[in-house]
Amino acid sequence: MSQHAPLIDPFARAISYLRVSVTDRCDFRCVYCMAENMTFLPKADLLTLEELDRLCSAFVGLGVEKLRITGGEPLVRKGIMTFFAAMKRHLDSGALKELTLTTNGSQLGKYAQELAACGVRRINVSLDTLDPDKFAAITRWGRLPQVLDGIAAAKAAGMRVKINAVALRGFNEDEQFSLTEWCAREGHDLTWIEVMPMGDLGNEDRLDQYWSLRDLRARYAARYSLSDLAERTGGPARYVRIEQTGQKIGFITPLTHNFCESCNRVRLTCTGELYMCLGQEDMADLRAPLRASPDDAALVAAIRAAIARKPKGHDFDYTRQTVAGQMTRHMSHTGG
Ligand code: SAM
Ligand code: SF4
Repeated sequence: MSQHAPLIDPFARAISYLRVSVTDRCDFRCVYCMAENMTFLPKADLLTLEELDRLCSAFVGLGVEKLRITGGEPLVRKGIMTFFAAMKRHLDSGALKELTLTTNGSQLGKYAQELAACGVRRINVSLDTLDPDKFAAITRWGRLPQVLDGIAAAKAAGMRVKINAVALRGFNEDEQFSLTEWCAREGHDLTWIEVMPMGDLGNEDRLDQYWSLRDLRARYAARYSLSDLAERTGGPARYVRIEQTGQKIGFITPLTHNFCESCNRVRLTCTGELYMCLGQEDMADLRAPLRASPDDAALVAAIRAAIARKPKGHDFDYTRQTVAGQMTRHMSHTGG
């Protein structure tokens, strides 16, 4: 096999999408994601920006066409703009088709222009509520005006914004339509995410917060005419169009198994662990081969060996009303 042959897993799925967590740290403490007193990884365990560049570039060399930068909060990683600027060369060469990020928006006021200059055309911003008090409660440390200013800065810099809202029963049920209408006015797409049994449950019982997207969708259907969109991203999102507004609404239901067969993605943590499936524990350490040699041969071999172990599907199950299949790692670790 040539060193640059594309990554194809045992189920004939081409791996073209890499999500990279660049830090486990965050300036927020969303209740469904982190405990308030999180212990973060020692800095020495983190991949340096140069190592992240080398790793991502290796994946791009192996056919990855879409890179999503996440965290933790990617924009709190010191020097992260250097990394975005470095990745631009892969966009310029045509090897990389899309460079994007998922962010809580708090630093967009500062970085939106630079991100756009690095070739970022679209971003996902997480925003569960437009109520300042509820926002402060759900994020613990976040402040809504700062995030709204950040979103405005992204729009002004010419980036398309997709809002991601976690659907939480008893929390933002009453904002389904106000958030949708705000997005329509601002020209943002909106995607709802079903809350996942990630990390430790702590004080917040996620089964209590669980709001089925089936219910959410039914409420849209009672108010608007919906048409299903064929558009698929290889991930757990399904899209509909609201005919009255022309708006695209996404639903991410990671607990269902209906997307695994088209899964085209893998996830890299900020310490260089490659997770082949969001719902399974199996991972490959890429930091060791990366640090062992300046030559990429061992790294590429480790990536290929990992992809050869990518499982067919994942293993969450809410059906017994327990948190079966619950993962012990946090979303901030694997990068949601
Ligand atoms: N800090 C950035 C942000 O909030 O967008 C990027 C990382 S965050 C882990 C990525 C996404 O995961 C966010 O949209 C967040 O709402 C989502 N997320 C975190 N914990 C989750 C959970 N338990 N269930 C579902 N989505 C979750
Ligand atoms: Fe931070 Fe994003 Fe997790 Fe919220 S969801 S605590 S913003 S990493």
